[in-house]
Amino acid sequence: MLLHYWWGVRCRNSKSGFVVDYPSEPNGGSANCRRMSLNQGGCLCGAVRYAANSTPVRVTYCHCKFCQRATGSAYLVEPIFQKTHFAIISGKPATYAQASEGSGKRVTINFCSTCGTKLFLDLERFPETVGVYGGTFDDPNWFERTPQVSRHIFLDSALNGTVIPAGFRTFREHAWLNDGTPVEPVIFGQPHAIGSKHLGNLGHPGTLVLPS
Ligand SMILES: [Zn+2]
Ligand SMILES: [Zn+2]
Repeated sequence: MLLHYWWGVRCRNSKSGFVVDYPSEPNGGSANCRRMSLNQGGCLCGAVRYAANSTPVRVTYCHCKFCQRATGSAYLVEPIFQKTHFAIISGKPATYAQASEGSGKRVTINFCSTCGTKLFLDLERFPETVGVYGGTFDDPNWFERTPQVSRHIFLDSALNGTVIPAGFRTFREHAWLNDGTPVEPVIFGQPHAIGSKHLGNLGHPGTLVLPS
């Protein structure tokens, strides 16, 4: 049964679970189907369901104002996947697009029109990937969030009381400038509480360990 078609990936039900057909495999025929363990997630009401069949490219903790407003929370935990490794497996998300304050490029929120749960972001600036609202995975702890694969961005707008763990790459805004130039990260040598003086401050070099 064809469940849905999304960004070139087809998902069908089979006895052993979902099968993902890649368009690069001739005709997506069953002989070419690869069985993969899919990590699934979905909205509160269950109408929209999705799956990812790879580990995230990276995990971004975003403390920007857009993510605070969109989540109603302190920050977004955003595992990022190649679009070819991400598929809607039931339902159809509604979309809301807005221009990014920083880049001016389109940012589209995909959400459930019934229950309002936001599921993933589709960014004009990064056309190959989607950023998932990490808490919507059935098991939000399935993906690694070590310092090697994670980073905290937009610390300049992080809420007071948010604790940034030691050892993670952090950025005052984006990790890249609009022209693609990478920004030098700051890595705290000890946990850093936003808005707290005694635990350290972004402008205080004594609490920083710069990457080698
Ligand atoms: Zn829903
Ligand atoms: Zn953000």
